[in-house]
Amino acid sequence: MKSIIKNILIIALVLIAVLLMFGGDNQNLSLGSKNKTVAISELVKLINNGEVIELEIKEDNVVAIDKNDNKSIAKINANESVFELLKYYGVNAEKIANTKIVFKEDINWMNIIWYAMLALIPLYLLFMVMNIFGKQNKQGPGQMFTFNQSGIRQFSPHKNKITFKNVAGMKEEKEELLEIVDFLKNSKKFTDLGAKIPKGVLLMGSPGTGKTLLARAIAGESNVPFFHISGSEFVEMFVGVGASRVRSAFAVAKKAAPAILFIDEIDAIGRERGSGIGGGQDEREQTLNQILVEMDGFDNNTNVIVVAATNRPDVLDSALLRPGRFDRRIILHLPDISEREEILKLHLANKKINPNVNVRKIAERTPGFSGADLENLANEATLLAAKNNQKEVLEEDLLKSIEKVMLGPERKSHIIQPREKEITAYHESGHALVAAKLKNADPIQKISIISRGQAAGYTLQLPTEDKIFSTRLEILDELATLMGGYSAEEVVFKDISTGSANDLKVASEKARAFIMKFGMSKLGPISLAEDESIFLGKSLTNKHNFSEELAAKIDTEMENLLNAAHDTAKNIITSSKKVLENIAKALLEKETLEKEEFYQLLEEN
Ligand code: ADP
Ligand code: MG
Ligand code: ZN
Repeated sequence: MKSIIKNILIIALVLIAVLLMFGGDNQNLSLGSKNKTVAISELVKLINNGEVIELEIKEDNVVAIDKNDNKSIAKINANESVFELLKYYGVNAEKIANTKIVFKEDINWMNIIWYAMLALIPLYLLFMVMNIFGKQNKQGPGQMFTFNQSGIRQFSPHKNKITFKNVAGMKEEKEELLEIVDFLKNSKKFTDLGAKIPKGVLLMGSPGTGKTLLARAIAGESNVPFFHISGSEFVEMFVGVGASRVRSAFAVAKKAAPAILFIDEIDAIGRERGSGIGGGQDEREQTLNQILVEMDGFDNNTNVIVVAATNRPDVLDSALLRPGRFDRRIILHLPDISEREEILKLHLANKKINPNVNVRKIAERTPGFSGADLENLANEATLLAAKNNQKEVLEEDLLKSIEKVMLGPERKSHIIQPREKEITAYHESGHALVAAKLKNADPIQKISIISRGQAAGYTLQLPTEDKIFSTRLEILDELATLMGGYSAEEVVFKDISTGSANDLKVASEKARAFIMKFGMSKLGPISLAEDESIFLGKSLTNKHNFSEELAAKIDTEMENLLNAAHDTAKNIITSSKKVLENIAKALLEKETLEKEEFYQLLEEN
């Protein structure tokens, strides 16, 4: 805003100056000697009186200068002959013969400046307007729109330097990237041997797995210029600018080679062409094409490596994945237990932590957490400790923060009707009871009827160890557990609430995958998984790739599977209704039951 005011001020000043000049055009502005404007007859009189020693004849005025250097200026019409005019006013021929006459080319600087201004002002205004537009587009984290450049940002390798030390775990990934770093630092070593330089590295992984972090670490490690553009910025850009920005981004990087060009969130532009609904298509396509053109244009001596990050590799255009483009692909997984421990330690390192905190224990309880979640957890725990005026962060704070990160903050102030609370208590007890009775279900970690985020209550189950996959029996028990809440409501209240909506959704998705993806159903070992790249528009136009008969069979199978899960859950609940009631009562009283309390309750019954 400030600069807009500044701009307006400048314009106003220019206008004032121009007006002054314009107004001052009739006056002679030169100071010092005395000047006066006179009529031509007056001027003739002066000549005839012999006062004039010099006569300056300019395009549209005549200046008579006397011995005191006083100037008398008479305006004339530019088309008139000065001498005719003087003669007409009866100038003395002898006097004029004794006067020095100088013809002066009348360069009117004022006029020149004035015309220049006139020409410049519209340009200036235009520039200003563009500037304002540019600013309005700068809402993102960085510059979005610059006229002189591609909007590319360069990470300074010195400020907030991030190296591989700041990335916990990911041993293999870092090793693979070290090769790239080495490559850029000592490219000669490789080219001398005739090695072909990789052009692109694609970092793939779900959000928060540290793709951007890793890319920045490459920058820190490699000490080569590191340029950063983000795909999501392109999408918001003015139409037609994307491709040219790509062009200049590559130009900048090439000029600085050896260099790294990092394209974050490339899925925003590199999404499969021809899919998706809505505008921005052509724009995206052009931008993507430009990236491909640029990468294909690299020859073996172009020491620019393009690093791109995406959390949707499934929607990426296959052209991007062709050899010679992003041929190095690094998949970032969610961290396993020891990696979680390392990440937590890293993020707790700069905080005041009680020495008795068992970080391993926290890592055990956070399967499925991404690096970003763990960072968030460390921070939430610290905030909690500060809120309670503690001097250090305790293990308890970390444990409490796990659920907060997972499900959102507790909504203690949210007043729940006693009736709803009762339903929730039975619902959650239902999940827990079914899980506890099934052999292949994960053990219960905690049950709570304190509402959090969207959930009225929750039952936490954690696997005893990190799992890479699940087995058929595990999924079947999971389905039954999901039906536990629904069945409990059904058995106890002879009615069903809307609180089971999410359980049913998850169960249905699981069941579908069970049949179509994992080949675990009666249909046998077959993968009918719909193409994961289906995205918006495409899924509307593309029908599934199997017959209607098979589709009907899948539907029947779905039904059987979900009904069986429901039956299992319902049987458990009906046969242990007393136990269910006891758990629910304990929940209503305490609001949360920890693992130990829960299993003790089970044993007592
Ligand atoms: P992505 O780009 O994959 O969505 P980010 O790189 O932005 O994820 O990661 C978000 C944050 O999570 C990082 O700033 C970092 O603090 C933390 N983080 C993620 N992975 C790790 C890791 N392996 N080690 C340390 N911190 C991590
Ligand atoms: Mg990122
Ligand atoms: Zn539920």
